Amino acid sequence: MSKIGVLGGTFDPLHYGHLRAAEVARDALSLDRVLFVPAANPPHKQGVTVTDVGARVDMLELGLAGEAEFELCRAEIERGGPSYTIETLDELKRQERGAELWFITGSDAFLEIRTWRDWEALLTRYSFAVHERPGVGIDAAAAVVPESYRERVVFLTREMLNISSTEIRRLARAKRSIRFLVPQAVDDYVRRNHLYQ
Ligand code: ATP
Ligand code: MG
Repeated sequence: MSKIGVLGGTFDPLHYGHLRAAEVARDALSLDRVLFVPAANPPHKQGVTVTDVGARVDMLELGLAGEAEFELCRAEIERGGPSYTIETLDELKRQERGAELWFITGSDAFLEIRTWRDWEALLTRYSFAVHERPGVGIDAAAAVVPESYRERVVFLTREMLNISSTEIRRLARAKRSIRFLVPQAVDDYVRRNHLYQ
């Protein structure tokens, strides 16, 4: 049976922290593939300006090019409207017939899990791999859900890169370098298109 990782996010922009999170999960859980799923209209970022989905997808395509095990998944974009993880995983479950799905998140995102649509069903139906992000310890993240909902949650403790899209946008806005935080092609794209100005 194939094992597929699913990394949902805004990817505004894709950076090496995302790629490393996918790679460590792939390595730790022996995943065959990892799907990167950009949110169409992130329900948790209402009120915050998110870069046009076309540009976010372009950057994902550039950053994932040539990575055989990493794939862009357009499920949430094609569905449109707010992107709910439960809908995405249910859809992938149907498409990927029988594959074992692993949703990959950082501990910061997992902290909010109880605000996600149908979070109990989500944690009952699917396996989760949670990375420790700087600033949010695994224990704090684990504590947000009762133990009975943690049976399918694996907390990964390998060191993550301290990189965030927020910091990259801040640097770009200040016309500072974002080189080596994002793939070279993403850096070029940001500069060519004057993103985050
Ligand atoms: P922003 O600062 O805009 O929130 P971000 O860097 O957190 O951006 P997202 O697109 O929000 O990136 O993150 C998507 C998923 O990837 C989330 O589960 C998040 O926790 C995880 N993630 C992002 N950056 C890292 C990182 N450096 N290490 C591990 N996981 C990460
Ligand atoms: Mg984030």
